[in-house]
Amino acid sequence: MRETELAPSHIVYPLFVQAGLSGRQPIDAMPGQDRLGLDALAAEAVSLESLGIPAVLLFGLPPAKDDRGSGAWARDGIVQQAVRRIKDARPDLLVIGDVCLCEYTSHGHCGVVRADGSVDNDATLPLLAETAVSLAGAGCDIIAPSDMMDGRVAAIRSALDASGFGETPILSYAAKFASAFYGPFREAAESAPAFGDRRTYQMDPANRRMALDEVVADISEGADMVMVKPALPYLDVLREVRNAVGVPVAAYNVSGEYAMLMAAAGNGWLDERRAIDEVLTSIRRAGADIIITYHAKQWAQAQG
Ligand SMILES: [Zn+2]
Repeated sequence: MRETELAPSHIVYPLFVQAGLSGRQPIDAMPGQDRLGLDALAAEAVSLESLGIPAVLLFGLPPAKDDRGSGAWARDGIVQQAVRRIKDARPDLLVIGDVCLCEYTSHGHCGVVRADGSVDNDATLPLLAETAVSLAGAGCDIIAPSDMMDGRVAAIRSALDASGFGETPILSYAAKFASAFYGPFREAAESAPAFGDRRTYQMDPANRRMALDEVVADISEGADMVMVKPALPYLDVLREVRNAVGVPVAAYNVSGEYAMLMAAAGNGWLDERRAIDEVLTSIRRAGADIIITYHAKQWAQAQG
C-alpha cells in the first residue's frame, strides 16, 4: 500500500574536496561529514558504489582564490583533479560538477564584482561557461550551475555544444532561495561572502510563482533537469515544479537541514534513523526524482 518509494538510486551524495589536504577532516557544523583530500577519493568512490549510491556532486576548496575565481576553470583545478581520481577508481559512479565561482573568488560572491560591490551578471557568464567546459573535459557527467546568474544555462549549453560536449546534460539550480539553511555549507566550503549577501541573485523565500518562472526559463534555455533548493522549507514549491514540468526534478536537502537533524539526534531529542528516513521520504513524496543529501551514506547503510 506504500505510495512512495525511496531507493539508493534516487540519491546523490555531495562531496567537499580540499586541495592540499591529506585524508579526511571533519566539518564541525555538519557532524559525520568530512572534507576529503584527493588521496581519500578513490576509497570513498568504492564505498559509495558498494552502498548503491549512483552519483556524487563535487564542491572544491582550491589552494588559492582570486577576484575572478580562476580556480574554477583551471585545468588542474581541485574539482578537475577530483573527477579524474574518482573516474579512475570507479568509472561508473556519476560525477556532477557544481558550476559557480563563490568557492574560488576572494570576495566569496558567485560572480564578477564591480567596483561598487555589485555583481556583474553578464561579465560572469563567460567564466561560468568556461568552468562548465573545463569540468566536462575533466570527466564530469552532468553540469550543475548553482550561481543563479540570468542567462547562464543558455551560455553554458552553447559553450558545451561548441566544445564537443553536446551530450552532457545540465542540472540547473533553477529555484534556489536565499536561505539561512546554507550556513554550515559556507563553513564547509569556506565560501561565505566577504561583504553583502546573495539576495540580489538568489530568490526571496516568500516567492512561489517566481520559482516556477525561473524553472520554466531554465528549461527553455536548455536545462535537462531542474533543482529546488533548499528542500524541507520548500516542499510546496517542489510539488508545484514537479506538476508543472516534464523533466526530472532534484531537491537539495541542504547543510542546515542536515545540521538541524543531526544536532537534535546528537542530543538524544530525535531518533536519527527514523528522522532521516521520514525526511527523505517526504522529499520524494513532494515530487523529487533526485535527492541530493548529506544523509546519503547513513541512510543507505541503514537499508543494508
Ligand atoms: Zn555560488
